[in-house]
Amino acid sequence: MKFNLSSPTAVDEALHLLHKSSGSARLLAGGTDVMVGMRVGKIKPDFLINLNKIPDLAGIHPSSHFKGGLFIGALTKISDVEHSPELCGGYRILAQAAGTLASVQIRNLATLGGNICNAAPSADTATSLLVLDAVAEIAGQEGFSFVPLQDFFTGPGTTVLGSDKILIGFHLPPQPEKTAGTYIKHGARKAMDCCTLGVAAQISMADGRITKARIAIGAVAPTPLRVHEAEAVLEGKNGLTDILINKAAQIAEEAARPIDDVRGQAWYRKQMVGVDTQRALSMIAGMLEGEQV
Ligand SMILES: Cc1cc2nc3c(=O)[nH]c(=O)nc-3n(C[C@H](O)[C@H](O)[C@H](O)COP(=O)(O)OP(=O)(O)OC[C@H]3O[C@@H](n4cnc5c(N)ncnc54)[C@H](O)[C@@H]3O)c2cc1C
Repeated sequence: MKFNLSSPTAVDEALHLLHKSSGSARLLAGGTDVMVGMRVGKIKPDFLINLNKIPDLAGIHPSSHFKGGLFIGALTKISDVEHSPELCGGYRILAQAAGTLASVQIRNLATLGGNICNAAPSADTATSLLVLDAVAEIAGQEGFSFVPLQDFFTGPGTTVLGSDKILIGFHLPPQPEKTAGTYIKHGARKAMDCCTLGVAAQISMADGRITKARIAIGAVAPTPLRVHEAEAVLEGKNGLTDILINKAAQIAEEAARPIDDVRGQAWYRKQMVGVDTQRALSMIAGMLEGEQV
């Protein structure tokens, strides 16, 4: 396996190298997808552009896009996301999801940006970022742009980045005070395995009413998916009742469009989306009642 490696120290320089390579280069973050892909011959880049020497691409700090929100740099390690004290309250779901990815060793190498740019429908952090209304900051030849995560994925393994843009990080808007959420990773093993399906749900309440509902499902469609119809059933209602939970779960199940693959059969995945959405919302109802938020 022969390739050239370059380690630019600025985003502009990395963009220039990408532009010059006309699609034959691959960006390298933690390498846990890139290196495996190269090893098995799935990808054969002539040129690797290592992003790890660019300062400021890693870290979690206040967002410049959302007042009172958070920014997470693309090069932030999954283990740092998992253990960040900043990811508390309404942001906790992302830390929880990060903690389910692979193993400690992989989490210490893998980055949040890599997990999203790899664009696997099963990416563990994608559904949690979707329920947090994450907005991707992207650098390209023409400058910086902001794209809501729900418009970021274009298919399995593809994103709006194409071959000439770099993900800078994610901006997360502030979350309402009384917010609870959870991510359910459904898989054959507890660690070192991509999910058979994943469900992330997050509910905000004020004065007994559901002010915001977010439900996202993973590994059951060509891209991670928000289930807007299920959210609409919940928003504005008084209390997260069993009837509402079951209705939302049924809609989520209907929205799933899974395929048969080594991790599970389509009929099973679809059915379990309903079951896990029901489980997630029931857990959240318990958290909100017990004020564990
Ligand atoms: C044993 C094993 C177990 C795994 N288990 C899981 C699991 O349980 N759940 C899960 O979701 N994933 C899992 N993965 C996949 C992988 O670890 C994650 O997707 C990881 O987050 C990728 O991050 P990385 O930094 O290593 O990305 P890299 O491999 O460096 O890059 C991944 C892709 O993103 C692109 N990229 C990276 N950074 C940027 C950027 N800033 N801008 C534009 N493009 C960029 C790269 O060019 C490449 O196409 C597993 C992998 C292995 C090897």
